[in-house]
Amino acid sequence: MRVAVFSTRPYDRQFLEAANAAHGHELIYHEARLQADSAPIANGCQAVCVFVNDDVDRPVLEILAASGVRLVALRSTGFNNVDLQAAADLKIKVVRVTDYSPYSVAEHAVGLILMLNRKLYKAYNRVREDNFSLQGLMGFDIHGKTVGVVGTGKIGQCFAQIMQGFGSQLLGYDVRQNPTCLEMGMRYVELPELFAAADIISLHCPLLPSTHYLINAESISQMKPGVMLINTSRGALVDTSAVIDGIKAGTIGYFGADVYEEEESLFFEDLSDTVIQDDMFQLLQSFPNVVITAHQGFFTREAFTTIAETTLENITEFEQGLPLSHEVQPPKKVASS
Ligand code: NAD
Repeated sequence: MRVAVFSTRPYDRQFLEAANAAHGHELIYHEARLQADSAPIANGCQAVCVFVNDDVDRPVLEILAASGVRLVALRSTGFNNVDLQAAADLKIKVVRVTDYSPYSVAEHAVGLILMLNRKLYKAYNRVREDNFSLQGLMGFDIHGKTVGVVGTGKIGQCFAQIMQGFGSQLLGYDVRQNPTCLEMGMRYVELPELFAAADIISLHCPLLPSTHYLINAESISQMKPGVMLINTSRGALVDTSAVIDGIKAGTIGYFGADVYEEEESLFFEDLSDTVIQDDMFQLLQSFPNVVITAHQGFFTREAFTTIAETTLENITEFEQGLPLSHEVQPPKKVASS
């Protein structure tokens, strides 16, 4: 099948090429992000292969449908960037990678916790400058602290298992309880109780209309003063402006993020010679108790191998008219983009 692969970087190409040896699809790589003005380059392709910051909204899907595209193959778990109703209306199927190394993202979340708590980003720079002072580097024992896990699916479960290894108390919130998390002693509570009790809060739920700005001024006001907030899930789970106010007020003591609500115009690009126009992002990253990484939680060899293999299997299933193992079902009535 002829496939237009958007948002391609050299590492995407490397792993997709290796996996495609078993499938033989014609992969046409584009560095461009998929959006309305780049969509016409998929002309003549039956499928597009996209990533987290590609815009797969109704206008884009209409252009794709008109040029013969019948499949959107996501190289990601999250599908909040796809208008599923529009895809269903246009008879375009959507497939994703449901299961790839949840360890990659969970371990990255723990990395952010350690980095913020022990101020490793400062310590690294200090020692390189022969500054061996410990002033200002004091952290806290994670052992015995209460960790709140919001979303206890595959990544949330892995994260909880690691934090249990540190000797933390686990609180969980999810719309359905995970038996493995219950077995390891996680106590499920409502969000206000989790916010009030947790020393560390880590977000692992999907971005849905119901979870948009889950972290806002009101929820931040319910948190323990000095709480550590970690977001490796999706940027818009968090109202960044409210987080900035929370950091200034001291309610949020540490903020670690691998995602940002306006990341589309920033992440995955080298903008080091550019004047960044996003004032909110610049203010956020100016704080000494904030660490931001550019959506790299998934970026391990193991995750990339599985992403590439599953993506090509998804495309082959579609081409051969087989049942789609990883289809994202269109919303019933309530949109869940
Ligand atoms: P998953 O489907 O296994 O788990 C998601 C969990 O969230 C489920 O248990 C679900 O019941 C729960 N949930 C749904 N609605 C909820 C709500 N309103 N409140 C609380 N919980 C709710 O998914 P996963 O593989 O664990 O991935 C979780 C998220 O991580 C993805 O949706 C994606 O946004 C993010 N992610 C980030 C990266 C990265 O590189 N940073 C990589 C992969 C995934």
